[in-house]
Amino acid sequence: MARAAWSDDEAEALRDLAKTFFEKEVVPNEEKFVAQGHPDRALYNRAGELGLLCPAVPVEYGGGGGTFAHEAVILEEQARAGDGAMGIPVHNAVIAPYLAHFGSEELKQRVLPRAASGELLLAIGMTEPGTGSDLQALKTRAVREGDEYVITGSKIFITNGWLCDGILIAAKTDSSKGASGVSLLFAEVGDDVPGFTRGRILNKIGGKAQDTAELFFDGLRVPATNLLGGVEGQGFYQMMQMLAQERLVTAILAVVMMENAVQLTVDYTKGREAFGKPLFAMQNTKFELAECATIAKVSRVFLDDCISKHLRGELDIATAAMSKYWLTDQLGIVVDRCLQLFGGYGYMTEYPISQLYTGARILRILAGTNEVMKDLIARSL
Ligand SMILES: Cc1cc2nc3c(=O)[nH]c(=O)nc-3n(C[C@H](O)[C@H](O)[C@H](O)COP(=O)(O)OP(=O)(O)OC[C@H]3O[C@@H](n4cnc5c(N)ncnc54)[C@H](O)[C@@H]3O)c2cc1C
Repeated sequence: MARAAWSDDEAEALRDLAKTFFEKEVVPNEEKFVAQGHPDRALYNRAGELGLLCPAVPVEYGGGGGTFAHEAVILEEQARAGDGAMGIPVHNAVIAPYLAHFGSEELKQRVLPRAASGELLLAIGMTEPGTGSDLQALKTRAVREGDEYVITGSKIFITNGWLCDGILIAAKTDSSKGASGVSLLFAEVGDDVPGFTRGRILNKIGGKAQDTAELFFDGLRVPATNLLGGVEGQGFYQMMQMLAQERLVTAILAVVMMENAVQLTVDYTKGREAFGKPLFAMQNTKFELAECATIAKVSRVFLDDCISKHLRGELDIATAAMSKYWLTDQLGIVVDRCLQLFGGYGYMTEYPISQLYTGARILRILAGTNEVMKDLIARSL
């Protein structure tokens, strides 16, 4: 594939490194990860060693000192290799940026180098059993006691939830308020940390190699310096600033998955015969794939434009929402049409198209549902 206008030699070198890592060290173990419900923890340390964690965190905090282009090539190669186990997208491109932008100097020095090495695996806890889209209604509370905050509540559907060592928690520091009562606090956690317990790894229809878990806080204490921004009530504003990038991350995964689906289906239909000729020779197959390839190409152009805009600091909230909603919707359409061309084999889990099908479904739900995206877009009209 031709190099994107937003990339450069350095990003491409990182792409090669990521491609080799995912293809050789991660994907061959995917079956084992599905069976245990999570990737091997040591793989995160290995990714850190290779420089694949926190690529855009400044070098003074142990990161790669790069840009979102460095994040993007890692995301693309993970999706292209078909890895659904490692929670690197949230660790790198979602949570580390919150810490780097809003963390106190002390917090950044303490946490970011360990996140970059893989010693601390990060998770983000916004969603609760009682609320997901309506974040103002969250119930988890953080109460200041001296030099600490005491956190009580629970989170659900947390990516990296089983393995994480650090969580960025959205909590109410003032329950009498809506959005302006929300704060973000970072907590280092572990199975021996008082006030912290993990629930079970949740059973999902797809992404079975990724640990999505429930987390419970019952008087979990964190230093007051772990409050992002240093002032209570900034959480909603901080999320609004950072969610555009999270949406773009989802859009990147969607486009690469779409490209994978088309390629897999072209290869399969050229190899399988029915009625004395390859499936690909039938007009319906050719037309279906021509349409899917066109959708994937148009999607790629829109995505590349969004990445370029983001690198220039020009990706507005509505366009980021458009990329997330539209590209994940297109993925759903393309992967469904491609699976159909596999016939019964498309329904078998050993065929990667079936994993793309189930893996694609979540992208319309997480990082803000596609309905919430449309609401955001409508506000800009
Ligand atoms: C595999 C997986 C991984 C996840 N990882 C994380 C994570 O790491 N951290 C985290 O915090 N969360 C995570 N989530 C949670 C995810 O972000 C939420 O599931 C999502 O935001 C939707 O919230 P909800 O499930 O409570 O659905 P609800 O908010 O209850 O929504 C249900 C339906 O109502 C619709 N709806 C809600 N509000 C509106 C509205 N205003 N207008 C129109 N329609 C509306 C929704 O679009 C949806 O169709 C994950 C979820 C999954 C399944």
